[in-house]
Amino acid sequence: MKYGSVEYQYALPIARGLVENAAFRCWVLSKSRFAKVSDADLLHKEMRSHRRNPTAEWWRFYFTEGCRCLGCSGKETDIFAVFEDATGFRFAMHFELKQPKDKFKADGVQARGYPLRAKCWTGKPPPKVLPHQDASTGIFFSETRRTEYAQHLDHFETKVTFEDIEREFPLVAAWR
Ligand SMILES: [Zn+2]
Repeated sequence: MKYGSVEYQYALPIARGLVENAAFRCWVLSKSRFAKVSDADLLHKEMRSHRRNPTAEWWRFYFTEGCRCLGCSGKETDIFAVFEDATGFRFAMHFELKQPKDKFKADGVQARGYPLRAKCWTGKPPPKVLPHQDASTGIFFSETRRTEYAQHLDHFETKVTFEDIEREFPLVAAWR
């Protein structure tokens, strides 16, 4: 994801919304298998200090070439977030973000990598990734692409459309 790209114009407001808007954060998590702890705290500050890279935004540039598994090799999580519930249980969400004009390659490798990477990092997180005990996957995409993306969407447990965000959280949807 390049700075200033169309993808970034969608990703930044979503990342900000996760930090600043508790209702939005809860709404997103309620669509995941962590719905029971959808009021969990986002550990963006801990992620940032663990990573020790003051210039990188807390949520992006998450990849590793230190692991050669199919989930990690040559792949990146667009928006990565670690949460903690009231008992101290930490879980991560790996989100893919497909801006409305983007598409998946037909080989399916990118989408398939997400659950593999989520599992890989749960057991042995790369050095710059805050350790966590469980993880899942999600995707932010445009409703207009649902049919086209159909074969890829199953790899993402949590599915959120930009249109839903625009409708439910217009203040978060700063890309409009
Ligand atoms: Zn791996």
